[in-house]
Amino acid sequence: MIENNVRSILSSISDGNCFHEQITLVAATKMRTPEEINRAIRAGITDIGENRVQEFREKNAFVMQANRHFIGHLQTNKVKYLIGKIDLIHSVDRDELADAIETRSLNENLRTDILIQINIGNEASKGGYRAEEGRKVYERFHSRAGLRVRGYMAMLPNTTDGSLLNRLCDDMRALYDDVRKTDPDICFLSLGMSGDWERCVSRGSNMIRIGTAIFGAR
Ligand SMILES: *Cc1c(COP(=O)(O)O)cnc(C)c1O
Repeated sequence: MIENNVRSILSSISDGNCFHEQITLVAATKMRTPEEINRAIRAGITDIGENRVQEFREKNAFVMQANRHFIGHLQTNKVKYLIGKIDLIHSVDRDELADAIETRSLNENLRTDILIQINIGNEASKGGYRAEEGRKVYERFHSRAGLRVRGYMAMLPNTTDGSLLNRLCDDMRALYDDVRKTDPDICFLSLGMSGDWERCVSRGSNMIRIGTAIFGAR
């Protein structure tokens, strides 16, 4: 089943998003075993994303070659377990975390790729900067020697209001386009999960994080 799900999603996104940009499919692997994750990789998954540092540390050695993403809430005291091991941190949602990633990266002579997380629905339950702050946050981070900002990440709110969701997707894309104009390092808009990725790629997302639709219900 995992294999069929991977092939089916990869084939659906093979023509790219609405702007004909290539879409990166990140398999969200929280609560999945290394065996399940490796099945997905053998079926064509190139990118995987963990939510919790503890799980990443337990499973990482048993998971095959793939680009590693970190997509969950990150405590500053756990940054040290990720630097040098994670290709892209999606969840930079506060300056204190950016500072910790910067410090640790410089200690290891590295520059860590990050996305700025936007709380696009202004939800109390979710982390991230307000969309209106997105440009300023980029300006604070982009010249830092230990960080390389690659774009933005967001989670759409849980609502059936399609026109609201479309507007929020468009707001994310506008923010992304605004910074991308002047910075060729900006190339990822990480927006879309199992329930909403089709809408997101039809409105300009080029990176989707899919768990349930690959591995089944958690
Ligand atoms: C779990 C998770 C996903 C994937 O969610 P599904 O609905 O299972 O596809 C995507 N992004 C983040 C940040 C997650 O925690």
